[in-house]
Amino acid sequence: SLFGLPEQAPHERVLLATDPATGLKAILAVHSTARGPAFGGCRLWHYESEAAALNDALRLSQGMSLKNALADLPFGGGKAVILKPEGQFDRPALFAAFGRAVQSLNGAYITAEDVGTTTADMRGMQAVTPYVSGIPREGAFGGDPSPKTAWGVFVSIRAGARLVLGRSSLEGVRVALQGLGAVGWHLAEFLHQAGAKLVVADVDTAKVERAVAQFGAVAAHVGEILAADVDVLAPCALGASLNEQTVPAIHAKLIAGAANNQLATPADGDALQRRGICYLPDYLVNAGGIISVAREYRNEGEEQAVMAEVSKIAERVEELLQRVQAADSTPARVADDWARSKLVRPA
Ligand code: NAD
Repeated sequence: SLFGLPEQAPHERVLLATDPATGLKAILAVHSTARGPAFGGCRLWHYESEAAALNDALRLSQGMSLKNALADLPFGGGKAVILKPEGQFDRPALFAAFGRAVQSLNGAYITAEDVGTTTADMRGMQAVTPYVSGIPREGAFGGDPSPKTAWGVFVSIRAGARLVLGRSSLEGVRVALQGLGAVGWHLAEFLHQAGAKLVVADVDTAKVERAVAQFGAVAAHVGEILAADVDVLAPCALGASLNEQTVPAIHAKLIAGAANNQLATPADGDALQRRGICYLPDYLVNAGGIISVAREYRNEGEEQAVMAEVSKIAERVEELLQRVQAADSTPARVADDWARSKLVRPA
C-alpha cells in the first residue's frame, strides 16, 4: 500500500520531489513528528526501481522514529532518498534542488548525511535551507557522524559480550565485520584497540588490505563473512543482510552492527532467537550518529558531552536484555514495542 508498509504505523507525509533542470528525483518521508521534527539522513543511491526507492525511504524513516525515540531525542523520524541520476550530473545543483525540497516542508524534516552523501553536500544546502545538520564548523563541534556511530556500536558490542557471551573484556573476542566504510573502519579501530580479533570483508578490496595490514585482520570473502566462525557479527554495509538465506549459516552468538534495517523481515529476528543468537537491534546500537548531529543542530555540541550521551547506548542494551528476559520475547520485538511506546512528545 502507498499508505504504509506491513507491520508499521503509517507515515505522516511523503513528498515526491522532482526538478528536471538538475535531474532531481527524491523521496522525503516523514514518518512521525510526535516527538518533534522528523530528523534523519539523506541517501543518494542507484535504485533498481522507483518502488525500491520508496520502500527504502519508508523503511528507513520508520527506523529513524524508533531510533530517535529510544535515544530519548526530542525528534521524530524521517529520511530522504535521492535517486542517483544516470551519468554525469551537477552535484551542487542537485543538492541545492534537494535542499529546496527540504525547505518546502518548513522544518517538519531535518536532513543530514547518509550513505552516498557527504558533509560537503550538507554544507552546500545551507544556502537554501536551515534544516540541515552534520556540517563541520570551524572551532565548533560538528560534522561527520560516523565515528560517533561506531562508538555506539562498539559500546554495544562490549556490553553484549559481557551480558550474552560472559566475556569481561573484548580481548581475544572474534568479531566479523561486514563493510569497512565510514562506520566500519572506525569500529575496526575501536575493536582492535580493545584486543578483539577481526575478520573483515568489503567489496572494496583496498579497504580489506588496509585492515589486514593495520589491524592484523583476517580477510574473508564478501559472500562468506556472515557465516564466519566468530563470536560477534557486526553488519556495517547495507540493509537486509539478515534474511532467510543467511540466518541459518550464522555462527556468531551476538549480532550488533551499524547497518540500518538489518533484518529483512521480523520473522528473521525470530529465526535468530530460535538459533540461540542474540540480535541487538540496529536502531538501538547505531544511534550515535543521530545523537551527534541532533546535538550539533541544537547547538549543544561538545565532544565530551556527546560521547557521554552515545556511551549511554550500552545502558539501553542492558535494559533491553532485561526486558527481553521478562517478556520472554526477542530483542527485536521488545525494542520495537519499547520504542513505539515512546512515540509521544517528551515531557
Ligand atoms: P559507507 O558507504 O561509508 O560504507 C559502507 C561500506 O560497505 C563500503 O566500504 C562498501 O564498499 C561496503 N559494502 C557494500 N556492500 C558490501 C557487501 N555486500 N559486503 C561487504 N561490504 C560491502 O557507509 P557508512 O556510513 O559506513 O554506513 C554503513 C551502514 O551504517 C549503512 O547501512 C548506514 O545506513 C548505516 N548507518 C550509518 C551511520 C553513519 O553515521 N554513517 C549512522 C547510522 C547508520
